[in-house]
Amino acid sequence: MILIGGGHTHVLLLRKLCKNPLHDVCMTMVSDFECAAYSGMLPGHISGFYQQAALLINLRHLCKLANVQFIHAKVRGMNLKQKQVLLDSGAAPLAADLVSINVGGIPDMDNVEGAKSWAIPAKPVPRLLEGWASTLAAAENSTGQLQIILAGGGAGGVELALAMRSRLQHAEFTIIHSGARLLPEHNSCAQHIARNLLLERNVVVITEAKVVEVMPQSVRLDDGRRLASDFVFWVTQVAPPGWLGESGLDITREGFIRVKPTLQAINYPWIFAAGDAASIESQKLPKSGVFAVRMAKPLEYNLRACLGGSLLKDYKPQRHSLSLIGTADGRAIASYSRWAAHSAFFWWLKNQIDRRFMRQFQ
Ligand SMILES: Cc1cc2nc3c(=O)[nH]c(=O)nc-3n(C[C@H](O)[C@H](O)[C@H](O)COP(=O)(O)OP(=O)(O)OC[C@H]3O[C@@H](n4cnc5c(N)ncnc54)[C@H](O)[C@@H]3O)c2cc1C
Repeated sequence: MILIGGGHTHVLLLRKLCKNPLHDVCMTMVSDFECAAYSGMLPGHISGFYQQAALLINLRHLCKLANVQFIHAKVRGMNLKQKQVLLDSGAAPLAADLVSINVGGIPDMDNVEGAKSWAIPAKPVPRLLEGWASTLAAAENSTGQLQIILAGGGAGGVELALAMRSRLQHAEFTIIHSGARLLPEHNSCAQHIARNLLLERNVVVITEAKVVEVMPQSVRLDDGRRLASDFVFWVTQVAPPGWLGESGLDITREGFIRVKPTLQAINYPWIFAAGDAASIESQKLPKSGVFAVRMAKPLEYNLRACLGGSLLKDYKPQRHSLSLIGTADGRAIASYSRWAAHSAFFWWLKNQIDRRFMRQFQ
């Protein structure tokens, strides 16, 4: 069995395998990074609340404990007819009877001129951390005000902007958001709280605008405006890796793997997919770590069922989930269905949940 990608679902799967190993199955994980990053604590790290080590899970070590072989390489495709996983390291293809894909996605930069050269994507996380380190170094060496632009006003963009602002008081921050309202996946009360907080902290918000070109020292918007920028962070919707569709998997218009509620790929029952990269038939789930984490239990159950020849179960996501958005001031916004609140209690709760998640891997 091959596990592709060390996303949130697979790290929990490995954790479950440490407790309850799969006997007589040769398992391999292929990951392009040695460590998985827990996104829930990422803005907290940017704001200086957590050390970097607090959000990283050592995949090689976890695999060793779970009796899974670890290969540090990037998957570049699959030969579905021959049931092979292809690596970009030039190593021989890996034969697979069963595959589970948990590769997440990266912010979509393909259609914006200059974005790949000049903008810093929020994912993969190590790339964001490198970009943030350069920003901090530039701020230290600069006598003027840095101009920092964040493209994308979803939860990730808002949380990152507030976290960055808490570290850099003398920079100018601007969020460019294509929709009419920030936090489009949240209720109007949460949107209102976020908008006011950004205003209080002098973060400029430009809505109903898109960055169409990124240049070394400026960005151009779709309405023709040009804004000066020293650093541009790209926090837009994630796009899945292109090789998923190129391999022949059935994918959505956006490129996510179409899976049944059992998490099996529509046209290949020996391939499972979970997390952001998967799109469950007739369900529209937010691309969030919460759902990736929740998929670990049904994924484990169904992989075991598949190996044992028993019946698979459907994954039934909850209708609403509580979102906690840190605001880098010892508080967090809680958003659930149509309700929202902002308080120190919710930061306390978020910190407890995130630390408890990470304790499982220490
Ligand atoms: C700034 C920010 C803050 C966020 N905060 C939250 C939050 O508080 N709560 C929340 O629920 N969600 C949050 N999210 C969203 C969350 O990060 C994603 O929804 C979540 O990471 C998806 O998990 P996943 O398991 O699908 O994959 P990921 O966590 O994206 O992991 C995929 C892994 O696969 C690896 N990989 C990719 N391609 C390949 C390949 N070809 N070969 C080998 N390995 C590969 C990647 O390097 C990565 O390690 C946040 C996102 C951002 C950007």
